[in-house]
Amino acid sequence: MKILQDLSLTELKRELETIVEKMPRYRAEQVFKWANDYASFDEMNNIPKELRETLKENFIENPVKIEKELISKDGTKKYLLSLPDGNIVECVLMSYKYGNTICISTQVGCRMGCGFCATGIDGLVRNLTAGEMLSEILVINKHNGGTSTDRKITNIVLMGCGEPLDNYDNVVKFIKLISAKEGMNISQRNISLSTCGLADKIKQLADEDLGITLTISLHATTDEHRKKIMKVAKAFSLKELFFAINYYFNKTKRRIVFEYIELDINTNPDDAKRLKELCKGLSYHMNLIPMNATPHTIEENPALKPPTKEKSAAFWEELKKLGISATTRRTLGSDIAGACGQLRRSSLKKGE
Ligand code: SAH
Ligand code: SF4
Repeated sequence: MKILQDLSLTELKRELETIVEKMPRYRAEQVFKWANDYASFDEMNNIPKELRETLKENFIENPVKIEKELISKDGTKKYLLSLPDGNIVECVLMSYKYGNTICISTQVGCRMGCGFCATGIDGLVRNLTAGEMLSEILVINKHNGGTSTDRKITNIVLMGCGEPLDNYDNVVKFIKLISAKEGMNISQRNISLSTCGLADKIKQLADEDLGITLTISLHATTDEHRKKIMKVAKAFSLKELFFAINYYFNKTKRRIVFEYIELDINTNPDDAKRLKELCKGLSYHMNLIPMNATPHTIEENPALKPPTKEKSAAFWEELKKLGISATTRRTLGSDIAGACGQLRRSSLKKGE
C-alpha cells in the first residue's frame, strides 16, 4: 500500500492514470487537494464512489495518527504521532505573535549519537518518507481546525526526532511538497532545517536552490570540545563544517542560525572570540539553549556540565561586547517534556 501524501500532483496524475481508465484531468487535482486537507476517502465527496474504492485499495488512509496530545500551560502543544508500522514520533506546535510554528520529526530515532540528546540513544530505527513528514503537519493542522487553504500552521522547523540531512532525499522532497502551490503552499522562507553538521550534505543542499533557513547545531568552538559531546565532530572538523556553511551562505544569501547549548566547557570568554572568528563573513544569529535533561549523567560525561548562572551571564555580555546577535531560546513547553526525543522515550519506557 502506498501513501497518497508521498506523491506530488504530477506523480498522482501519473499514478491515477495507471490504475483508473478514462479519468478527467481535474480528478487528480481534486484528490490532491483532499489529501492535503487530510480527508478520509469517504470525506472526498466530489470524487465518484468507484474511484474512492480504488483509492482505498491502493493507498493507506491518512498514514499519521495522533496518539496523544499534551497541552502546556503556555499553550505549546506536544503530540505523539503513530506511523503506519506502529512507530512513534513526536511533534510540537508553538504559538508565537507572528503565527504557529510546528516542529516535526524526520526519522524514527537517530544514528548521530549526540551525548546530550534523548532521540539518539537507541540509534536509528528508520527514515520517514516525505509523505509521512507532510502528514505530521496535515494531521495537526486538521486537528486544530485548519485546511489546506485556511492553514493553522505558518512556520515549520525540522527539529524534532532525527537528523534531516541523514534522510536527505525524503527531506528535500518533503520541502517541495509542503511548499507546492497546489498543496499547503507554505513558503520555503518559513521553513528551517536544523542539522548537527553533515558538511557534505550541506553543500548538496545549497545546490538545490531552496529558500529555507539553515540552522546548525554548533554547541562548541573547538574540535576537541565538540568531539566530547557530538560524534559527528569526528567525521567533520569545524573547518570543514564552516567551509560548507559559507558555501551555503554565499549561494543562498540566507542568514544562518546557530544553536548553542550552554555548557561549562563552551561559555568561556575565548569561546565568544572563537565564535566571532568562525562566523566571519556570515550573516548569522546565535540561539543559546539551556540544556534540557540528558540521557547521560554528568559523571558519565563531564563535558555536559552546565555553566553557573554567573558564567552564563558573563558569556552573554561577552557576545554582546563582540557585536554577536544572540538570544536565549524561550523554553516553551518544558512542563510537557519539551526537548527533542524526551516524550517519545518516556512513552517507550512505559510500553516496555
Ligand atoms: N538532528 C538535528 C535536528 C534535531 S535536534 C540537529 O541535531 O540539529 C534539535 C535541536 O535540539 C538540536 O539543536 C539539538 O542539538 C538540540 N537538543 C537535543 N538534545 C537536547 C538537550 N538535551 N537539551 C537542549 N537541546 C537539545
Ligand atoms: Fe540526532 Fe540531532 Fe539528537 Fe544529535 S541532536 S542525536 S543529530 S536528533
